[in-house]
Amino acid sequence: MVNEYDVIVIGGGNAAFCAALAARESGASVLVLECAPAAERGGNSRFTAGAMRVAYNGADDLTQLMPDLTGEDKANTDFGAYPADQFFDDLCRVTEYRTDTQLAETLVSRSFETILWMSTKGIRFAPIYGRQAFKIDGKFKFWGGLTVEAWGGGPGLIDALYAAGERNGIEVRYESRALGLIHDDGGVQGVGVREQGRTVFVAARSVVLASGGFEANAEWRTRYLGPGWDLAKVRGTRFNTGDGIRMALEIGAMPYGNWSGCHAVGWDRNAPEFGDLSVGDGFQKHSYPFGIMVNGRGQRFVDEGADFRNYTYAKYGRAVLEQPGQFAWQIFDQKAAHLLRDEYRIKRVSKVSADTLEELAGKLEDVDAKGFLKEVRTYNASVRTEVPFNPNVKDGRATHGLAINKSNWANTIDTPPFEGYAITCGITFTFGGLRIDENCAVINTDGVPIRGLYAAGELVGGLFYFNYPGGTGLMSGSVFGRIAGTSAGRAAHG
Ligand SMILES: Cc1cc2nc3c(=O)[nH]c(=O)nc-3n(C[C@H](O)[C@H](O)[C@H](O)COP(=O)(O)OP(=O)(O)OC[C@H]3O[C@@H](n4cnc5c(N)ncnc54)[C@H](O)[C@@H]3O)c2cc1C
Repeated sequence: MVNEYDVIVIGGGNAAFCAALAARESGASVLVLECAPAAERGGNSRFTAGAMRVAYNGADDLTQLMPDLTGEDKANTDFGAYPADQFFDDLCRVTEYRTDTQLAETLVSRSFETILWMSTKGIRFAPIYGRQAFKIDGKFKFWGGLTVEAWGGGPGLIDALYAAGERNGIEVRYESRALGLIHDDGGVQGVGVREQGRTVFVAARSVVLASGGFEANAEWRTRYLGPGWDLAKVRGTRFNTGDGIRMALEIGAMPYGNWSGCHAVGWDRNAPEFGDLSVGDGFQKHSYPFGIMVNGRGQRFVDEGADFRNYTYAKYGRAVLEQPGQFAWQIFDQKAAHLLRDEYRIKRVSKVSADTLEELAGKLEDVDAKGFLKEVRTYNASVRTEVPFNPNVKDGRATHGLAINKSNWANTIDTPPFEGYAITCGITFTFGGLRIDENCAVINTDGVPIRGLYAAGELVGGLFYFNYPGGTGLMSGSVFGRIAGTSAGRAAHG
């Protein structure tokens, strides 16, 4: 077995493969180290719906990206536009203006060209009709800037990336966990790897770290995110334990970004400890803007309609974790039931239904029934029913006079049968990580790039703080993965 490459990429998800494919373009020999067995390859990227946030100026751009779009699709759909300024503004707004503007600018301005580049590698894309558009007067209308998904979702994306890797002569080793970076005054020289129980040294001129965050490491979660985070469920892969971040810090890399922050959502209360590939993202429960969420006291605790779900879901997992017992129930009536996303109809769902609110109250496990009934009565009385309901816009149909008002899409809960869904906090990925420069080189604590070391994807710090605009994780892996791979390939082979 050859144990010397121009470029080693650590990780086997979207960021890793974008880096590997870009490094190959410069003629470099490339090895991908994936610590998971082949059956579990692909990291968190495989668990996704494949939704990718990209700046575009209208249907013509989308046709370039998705040549399969038919005339009928175009006639029946209002794709709108998502200009770069709006993407940039959304990123700034949801991160409370803390996002590193250089990283944000690169992500936004290179999003469209990067996704087009992926399509030249054989990755196919489609409009997200199921989850990001509602039909109004016979025509689909996209509402939140998130319009494109990879064909076949996360599993389709990963299969297509691995197939592209194979076509381009990229070698992949499974069950090969990178343990540490070999480093001297000349920079990074290779990687120590445990391959199926054996420790070996693999030499490389450049190394790209793309091994995800530390969300699957209960000890680091508690250490950095805070007490209680050991109790969160992990939505995705069990393999993202912060190895890449640790290895880089060990050789002097600078920690950067929101180390106490993460992306976390409402996730089925009875989901397993880590993600289950047969369910994917189906344990998430993202239709709360059309209902209410109550805790064990029966009380609401967030403004469910503060914004479109794309801009609130990633921070509401934390709010659920902070409730007594770390759980909540989402409540809907029949006026909203038809709006519920497909994940509410999976087999493994913690759901109760009832014909009266009293009966429902008795079925909501661990909830104070009297407190719940009082909360719903007060909530129902506060809804401004004179404002028309419209799921496609922030409709201003709010409650008034409550300690926590609901700002949009407030409907009274009075039309049986009623439905309740039990959720807890599911962590998606962590925000803190490494600092990179414009070439995706990892910066050390003196502010100088570490020779031969590049990074992309979840383990890059500085982009996300507190919250996150849906669909940006994959796009970030693609944009920075491509840059990191190009830089690593050029440095090694150029
Ligand atoms: C359920 C779910 C749904 C999501 N939906 C979306 C969505 O629709 N759109 C979106 O943009 N984002 C979504 N995300 C977020 C998205 O998954 C991530 O932002 C993105 O996939 C990160 O890509 P990555 O390549 O950096 O990491 P990953 O895809 O997680 O890849 C990390 C890789 O590193 C490997 N690895 C770890 N340690 C080592 C080691 N020591 N040695 C070798 N290999 C190692 C892992 O096995 C894995 O292959 C979702 C996440 C989850 C969990």
